Amino acid sequence: MSFIFWLILIIVIVLISGLVWLINANKRFNQLKTKYNKIYAKSNIKVGEFLQNSLNQNYIKNLNLCYGNDYYYIPKTKTICIEQNTIDSTSIFNLTASAHEFGHAIDHKNGNSLIAVWYTLANIERFTAKLILPLLLVGLILCLFSTTLTAGTIIIEISVVLFLMMIATRIINIPTEKRASKNAIELLEKTGTLDLQEIKDAKKILNCALTTYILELFRYIFFSGIQKLVNTVNRLNRK
Ligand SMILES: [Zn+2]
Repeated sequence: MSFIFWLILIIVIVLISGLVWLINANKRFNQLKTKYNKIYAKSNIKVGEFLQNSLNQNYIKNLNLCYGNDYYYIPKTKTICIEQNTIDSTSIFNLTASAHEFGHAIDHKNGNSLIAVWYTLANIERFTAKLILPLLLVGLILCLFSTTLTAGTIIIEISVVLFLMMIATRIINIPTEKRASKNAIELLEKTGTLDLQEIKDAKKILNCALTTYILELFRYIFFSGIQKLVNTVNRLNRK
């Protein structure tokens, strides 16, 4: 029982520290996004042109483009998703973000199997992440009110395994994101999209984004109530 107590205490401390860090990382990323959405590349190259130039340099078969609410890459369908209405944008932020997603596509083409593993784990995690805290609570209640500890202990162990799986997904994600950002910088340089000073700005955006990826771990495991608290604090911070 004392092992479980210390484990829960450590998890709670990690979660609280993560929450504080998360609020600041997201705030800083949003500030960079707002700033570099208003600063335009001197080359005047649009996101659409940049993606075409990148494709010409790194021929990737059946690469698709979609429009969403965010930037992401789907390995299964080899699809780069960019934010809506940004195809004609020349802002440093939009160019950097689309370069990062193209960076994932290059990584995928080069046979980096880690990206496929991450994608599969991330899909599983979408369902299992919501179960961790409820399972932990059910397990604890069973341990407290049952004369035999077996059922409660098993449920707590399942919850811990799911938690560790989630950490593994985040850990796998970090080198994948780092490589995509490295590819992005090379692309932005090679295609002449950004000059030296603008490359420094792009690196700033990508490094900050990496911090938010690391901290995504915490976002997933909070109940929606805590999630709402984070959103409210973020909103207040933005004002
Ligand atoms: Zn990424």
